[in-house]
Amino acid sequence: MHYTPYRDLLLRLFPNYLKVRKMPLNGGMNCPNLDGTKGFSGCSYCNNRSFSPVFDQAKVSIQEQLEKFVPKLREKYPNAGILAYLQPYTNTHAPLEHLRGIIDPIVAHKEVAGLAIGTRPDCLEDEKIEYLAEKNRKKPIIVEIGLQTANDLTLAAINRRHTLAEFEDAVKRCQTAGLTVTTHVIVGLPGETMDDFRHTAKVVRDLNLAAVKIHPLHIVVGTVMAQDFADGEIKLLEFEEYCDAVAEMIKVIGTETAIERFSGESPSEMLIAPNWCGERDRIIAEVEKRLDLA
Ligand code: SF4
Repeated sequence: MHYTPYRDLLLRLFPNYLKVRKMPLNGGMNCPNLDGTKGFSGCSYCNNRSFSPVFDQAKVSIQEQLEKFVPKLREKYPNAGILAYLQPYTNTHAPLEHLRGIIDPIVAHKEVAGLAIGTRPDCLEDEKIEYLAEKNRKKPIIVEIGLQTANDLTLAAINRRHTLAEFEDAVKRCQTAGLTVTTHVIVGLPGETMDDFRHTAKVVRDLNLAAVKIHPLHIVVGTVMAQDFADGEIKLLEFEEYCDAVAEMIKVIGTETAIERFSGESPSEMLIAPNWCGERDRIIAEVEKRLDLA
């Protein structure tokens, strides 16, 4: 069966560009699960340093980041649309006035075609959604809301500190406001089976999400899971098992939701296991074989 590649979604959102390139930016925000708003210890797999190439830009103003990164990207891709991406931590975890100070200059920048914002479901109050919807009328705004799994017991076990119902509610409020909503999920969280993976895929499908990033659970240094893994308490999926799971999930998801990623990567100095998670092309080839596409 077929799936919808992410570039199809980008073509729909940015019809004037044959190619769109993401430009990560750091809005200098924290996460409610780390700053004490909800908790201090964070999700048990999280070391945000491993997520983002702009982790070190937290103290650099957005104007300076735009001045630094836009020309670099332009030089490399003279004709591409630039999709700014507020990536590290939770990029709507700030008072609205602060968000305006970050987001207004990005959307107003003449070289920026649109903006993707990574966030959590519990940081999308109505007034923020209204503000983003207003910006979305100028340039496409993609709100990327992390889910990880649709199983509430797993969400509690990995210390996400939000529920599936909160995720569904945030997605629907964003969609009603006309925003494009995407998500990311982790395959292979402790205790989960193929039934959980299919259930998560069904939730993604039923919510009509525009795209999904699918990652294998990978263990990075400096996380709660790194200790559990060292203690032998976590068993990771094998490469073949992961490819089976992703293929099954795509069968459930269907073609309305684009597949933005088939794997997740961390810098090699931070990754503990599995050693194959950066092998994106091999994973895609194996998944496509299972979907009878190869
Ligand atoms: S994964 Fe995201 S939500 Fe969880 S602690 Fe890290 S930054 Fe916060």
